[in-house]
Amino acid sequence: MEKLGRNDMCWCGSGKKYKNCHMALDEKIHHYALQGHIVPTHDILKTPEQIQGIRDSSVINIAVLDEVAKMIKPGVSTEEIDRLVYDVTTRMGGIPAPLNYEGFPKSVCTSIDEVVCHGIPSPERILKEGEIVNVDVSTIYKGYFSDSSRMFCIGEVSEEKKKLVQVTKECVELGLEQVKPWNFLGDMAQVINDHAKANGYSVVVDIGGHGVGLEFHEEPFVSYVTRKGTEMLMVPGMVFTIEPMVNMGTCEVYIDDEDGWTVYTEDGKPSAQWEITVAVTETGHEVLTY
Ligand SMILES: [Zn+2]
Repeated sequence: MEKLGRNDMCWCGSGKKYKNCHMALDEKIHHYALQGHIVPTHDILKTPEQIQGIRDSSVINIAVLDEVAKMIKPGVSTEEIDRLVYDVTTRMGGIPAPLNYEGFPKSVCTSIDEVVCHGIPSPERILKEGEIVNVDVSTIYKGYFSDSSRMFCIGEVSEEKKKLVQVTKECVELGLEQVKPWNFLGDMAQVINDHAKANGYSVVVDIGGHGVGLEFHEEPFVSYVTRKGTEMLMVPGMVFTIEPMVNMGTCEVYIDDEDGWTVYTEDGKPSAQWEITVAVTETGHEVLTY
């Protein structure tokens, strides 16, 4: 952290003097750093204006998922979902963040059953009764990024899969309860991992969540398998995703070596994921995308 004088302008761009703005917060963060904790750098902390930008972007993200919810059913191709996501996003003035991201060819990820994440929509992939699908939508609006995903059960789904989808949602809700200033990302991770394990499931270790807002994927990496009291300190202004990938079987995954994107469970058993974008506030948290 740079050394600012009490009467200097605050680093955040508010135009206020440091002593009247972020000084007390910085001193508190510094105190945690001295104890050996991982603490956020200034560029991780969003200003109220930036959070408003992410909130506006999130409105589109949620609207897109609501539209997907209306049309997703047996017989629909994942390509049709992709087209809808592109159309709704652009009609509302946004850009689908996945499109051309590091070469990703589509506007959305559609991950079915044993696909953990990053499934690529295709006209050949028709949704069938009994499948569970994660639709992961990410939006850029006026330069701000939002990110969320939902699970959809296609027609009648087995009790086994229904439970996986439900428990994964509960994992996100339990994790969210841990999001407040001066908690740690590990506090959230532990309740998520514990709840998944208590139900006989595993949480993917190799892929996690991320900071989001000014970029698609920002620091910090957010794990859902770490322990209470570890990982980065939560500080007001942080914005990140809660998106555990919960597997019915092993937590081991592999990437399709032909398309370079699709992530599968090693044992071929189903995987589920829900994702929200959340901001740490002065008093707790604000869910930006539900
Ligand atoms: Zn400030």
